[in-house]
Amino acid sequence: MAGHTDLAGKRPVRLNWRDFPHFTARDFVCPCGCGRAEMDPLFMQRLQRLRGRLGFALPVSGGFRCPAHDARSGPGRRGGPHTTGRAAHVAVSGMQAYRLLALATELEFSGIGIRQRGPVRHIHLDMLASAPGWPRPVLWVRYPDPAG
Ligand SMILES: [Zn+2]
Ligand SMILES: [Zn+2]
Repeated sequence: MAGHTDLAGKRPVRLNWRDFPHFTARDFVCPCGCGRAEMDPLFMQRLQRLRGRLGFALPVSGGFRCPAHDARSGPGRRGGPHTTGRAAHVAVSGMQAYRLLALATELEFSGIGIRQRGPVRHIHLDMLASAPGWPRPVLWVRYPDPAG
């Protein structure tokens, strides 16, 4: 498995999936078939803490995206949060989504995207740093694509 870097971008950190008993690499693998699931250990630690505090299952519906797949996921996209291994989608709705949101802000996930309309419902969580034109923390609501 490839090495990873911490938030300072210096120290390589190796991910051991056994440290995260509620999750497996398969949950986070890039959907394009490349097989990459290069999640950041610090993000996984925070997700594990969220899971432990909430006490209910967190079904992961999105995790790592390789740069090629990410570029195909939207027009003009480059280096989206999912390419960093510090973002995931948790497929919860209703009361579970409500409780997850309250705790996600407390645990300082720096990006929280809410998609709670239509058949596909999830909450995007990430822990990216601020970037030019994209200050954090940030909260957004994503409505289903009207065309799709
Ligand atoms: Zn891929
Ligand atoms: Zn996302």
